[in-house]
Amino acid sequence: MRAAVAERPGEPVAIRDVPIPTPGPGEVVLNVKACGVCYTDLRIIDALGAASMPLVPGHEPVGIVSAIGPGVVDVNAGDRVGAHALFTCGDCTYCRAGEEEACVTGIASLAGLGKDGGYAEYMALPASHAVPIPSGLDFAEAAPFLCAGLTTYAGLKNGGIEPGKRVVILGIGGLGHLAISIAGALGAEVYAVTGTESKVQMSRELGAAVAGDTATVVAALQAAGGAHLVLNTANSLTPVGHLLPAMAKQGSIVLTAADGDTFPIPPGAFVGLQLRVIGSFYGSRQDLREVLDLAATHSIRPIIERYPLAAVADVHARLRQNLVRYRAVLEP
Ligand SMILES: [Zn+2]
Ligand SMILES: [Zn+2]
Repeated sequence: MRAAVAERPGEPVAIRDVPIPTPGPGEVVLNVKACGVCYTDLRIIDALGAASMPLVPGHEPVGIVSAIGPGVVDVNAGDRVGAHALFTCGDCTYCRAGEEEACVTGIASLAGLGKDGGYAEYMALPASHAVPIPSGLDFAEAAPFLCAGLTTYAGLKNGGIEPGKRVVILGIGGLGHLAISIAGALGAEVYAVTGTESKVQMSRELGAAVAGDTATVVAALQAAGGAHLVLNTANSLTPVGHLLPAMAKQGSIVLTAADGDTFPIPPGAFVGLQLRVIGSFYGSRQDLREVLDLAATHSIRPIIERYPLAAVADVHARLRQNLVRYRAVLEP
């Protein structure tokens, strides 16, 4: 089979012929029909995945089950599934509590990092992590929910989203554009922060009540009574600091990404406004089932660019140049 392989840190992935995986006990093999390209893939290729190279990246794989390993009873060949890509232990205190995104195995259990992922025609996964894809979702449109949709949905949940709450989405990219639709489907009033005119327009089309640059959104929030929940999907934290004057008391700031060494809000403000800051990573299989359900019932679809597997190096270059609108999906 063909696969895109990261062979050395910092070098572009290369298309190689590699053996089709055979399913071990409790595993299934997925014939990958689509796999989204996440910014984390670039970090894995650049450095994070160095210890497991050669490595097939990709943690948004969906497709059709093509082979079943010994002992698998609840997944069948021909099933349409996506891989919940954090192949957690299932037995630590976090896993047993349904908080598997905090599993003690950590990021090393992520497919496409510690184990071969979805930039390939086939991949192996534990049957327990094969999550059904609702019939109304096509493969390429389902793929971005496996990380981008899951991460934003879990982040919004962790932040206490409720109908009628004013929710700010920071970073209108692969994660952020889905977050607008998801927050809207959960009944929130959505405020989207972006300085790019085409993204302002798109955010409104996706249902944002207010979309614009920081000053525009801050003014609108102040008039409305303040933000209850901020979801930051961008690496930079600077815009989070700019939102401080627009926070409601007891508001939550959820970080699904964060670069830098300092937090742009002075400590006293946490006390004065009784703010909560929450770090959120990925999500559980239950979260994934819920967000796929939400997508099916509310007709939420990501805005995607479709590419053949052979174009993967070009896709990564586009992603590095911030040209992808809004999620690139490989169709092996
Ligand atoms: Zn991801
Ligand atoms: Zn665990």
